[in-house]
Amino acid sequence: MTLDLDTLKQMVREIGTTRLDEIGCDECFEQLDRFVEMTLAGKNAAEAMPLVQDHLERCDDCREEFEALMVALRALE
Ligand SMILES: [Zn+2]
Repeated sequence: MTLDLDTLKQMVREIGTTRLDEIGCDECFEQLDRFVEMTLAGKNAAEAMPLVQDHLERCDDCREEFEALMVALRALE
């Protein structure tokens, strides 16, 4: 088997989109309240929960959810 450029590009694309340590929106959402609480408490949530951070960087829906939660919790304080 010889690898042409298109095959290589396809492989790179698949590696880029299916990382093993990736979480989905459901998992992200489950952990999001804790992530927000840590952030509001001044703790390094990104370091403690890197998978959530990673997902938020790539997923517009979850980032919007995160920002809405931040606003809501700040308003409560
Ligand atoms: Zn998401």
